Amino acid sequence: MTTISQSGQSPKKALFLLRRIHRDLSCEGIEDAWAEAELILCHATGLSKVDIYRDNPDISEDIIKTVNDMVRKRLSRVPLQYITGEVDFLKLNIKVGPGVLIPRPETEILVQEVYRLFKEGCLPPCPVILDMGTGSGCIGLAIARLIPSSHVIGVDISPRAIKYSSENKALNKIKNFHVLRGNLFEPVRDKTFALIVSNPPYVRTDEIASLQQEIAFYEPRIALDGGKDGLDYYRLIIPQSIDHLTKGGFLAFEIGIGQFEEIIRIAQRHGLALFRTKEDFSSIKRVLIFRRP
Ligand code: GLN
Repeated sequence: MTTISQSGQSPKKALFLLRRIHRDLSCEGIEDAWAEAELILCHATGLSKVDIYRDNPDISEDIIKTVNDMVRKRLSRVPLQYITGEVDFLKLNIKVGPGVLIPRPETEILVQEVYRLFKEGCLPPCPVILDMGTGSGCIGLAIARLIPSSHVIGVDISPRAIKYSSENKALNKIKNFHVLRGNLFEPVRDKTFALIVSNPPYVRTDEIASLQQEIAFYEPRIALDGGKDGLDYYRLIIPQSIDHLTKGGFLAFEIGIGQFEEIIRIAQRHGLALFRTKEDFSSIKRVLIFRRP
């Protein structure tokens, strides 16, 4: 005979709890409510999805309280990644929290394109690389991991970003990545790089309020706001990058929707040649790579 608890109907059972979290999230219109419910339960219990579906274990009162707190925060639109405090980014575990931009799947494409340049032999065997506006450090750390012979410097003006990127370096045991605090190229004034990579703030100022609440209310404006047309940081980074690139060096950007034509124009005006463009999962030109002749 199947008892109530065996069939997963007891409120203490993991699958019962999972269904309740899902219901609470989806009632409030949270997309991907099932995936988020799984992440919340896995994070709170320390169990894997397999553990939960296979064993349907009993969940303690304390953990149920933790789950309820997490759900409450999520319902007030705090991004899930700020609640769990972490994101997977190209096999790295990246800690995040208020004050630092949450790594996006699109940004993995930028890193993969940098790695592709290396594999194609376009970069020196031991390239020195700059990650401008490193934030959580995800881009610089992922490149440093994929290219162990590289030396990667991450620069950011925000003290929070420096804190997170340093923590993420230690957590992921990446030795060939270092962070420096300062405004744009100021901390690397006398250095040149085989490659400069950047995911600068590129959202138009007037667009920010219309983004999802999770982004508009909780993510750092300093990491999003690209000024009137979203291109302020490209206008700052492109001219200065010329003095910091070796001959034949590369500048690789993540860009916003429909920004490619204007950014290509700015770069060409400053003597950079367009080397490659790459589209994201939605066929949007998301990565631009330039070369200094
Ligand atoms: N990808 C972010 C967003 O639109 C923006 C990040 C950025 O400005 N670089 O949500």
